[in-house]
Amino acid sequence: MMKTDEIEKEIQSIVSFPDEKFIEIIREVGFECDCCGKCCTSEFNDHVFLLDDDTERLIKNCGSGFLRPAPYFDVCDNLGRFYVMGYALKNKPGGECIFYTSGKCEHYAIRPDICRIFPYMLHREPDEEGNIEFRQVGGLNRHGLYHNDISDETCKEILKTVKKYESDFLRQKLGFIREIEKHFKKHNLKQSRQMYDRMMREYAKGKDIEVYVFFRGTFKKEIISKHIINS
Ligand code: SF4
Ligand code: SF4
Repeated sequence: MMKTDEIEKEIQSIVSFPDEKFIEIIREVGFECDCCGKCCTSEFNDHVFLLDDDTERLIKNCGSGFLRPAPYFDVCDNLGRFYVMGYALKNKPGGECIFYTSGKCEHYAIRPDICRIFPYMLHREPDEEGNIEFRQVGGLNRHGLYHNDISDETCKEILKTVKKYESDFLRQKLGFIREIEKHFKKHNLKQSRQMYDRMMREYAKGKDIEVYVFFRGTFKKEIISKHIINS
């Protein structure tokens, strides 16, 4: 897990990323969505992570049946309980997002922030040579249309929403790490890689596991088994 000071620095570097540079990239790429629906599948986008505001907005409108703890749990304690920094949307058995029906998003108007900003992003990732640098557009040339004119107004809106999403994501992560530290100290728990691997093996065999999901500053207990993680 990243350290809190590293996350704080990362937030700062997102906020101070030069606006003109981002806008130039948006303009150069000239991306336009052709509504192919690929980004609504786990094959293309793995999972849809939810910021706390997304989770709250969607629960208000759709109940909670669409939620699952975000995959790739961050930590396991010495008693075999997992912790993760937020929720994600479930997928259908074929890999489509739970809200993707007949080629459309059933909840488009209230879709999660990550779906609003895609394919734009602003976070560091390794390139093909392993150099860590900021990426601004996901799945370049693998979806959509390119070299379209993008208005100044749209460029500014994209810039604003992407910077907000990426820093909100890291703030949620920061809150999670701080709460984990407090929680482990208070309950005399330890992080255990050995227990993590053991419980994941049990989970793969079909055993229920306990996952504590960070939401609005506290941990919500969820019991999950392999057969319900997707649908
Ligand atoms: S919430 Fe809607 S836009 Fe987002 S992945 Fe699901 S179907 Fe697609
Ligand atoms: S954003 Fe890309 S992957 Fe998603 S529907 Fe549009 S073109 Fe397809």
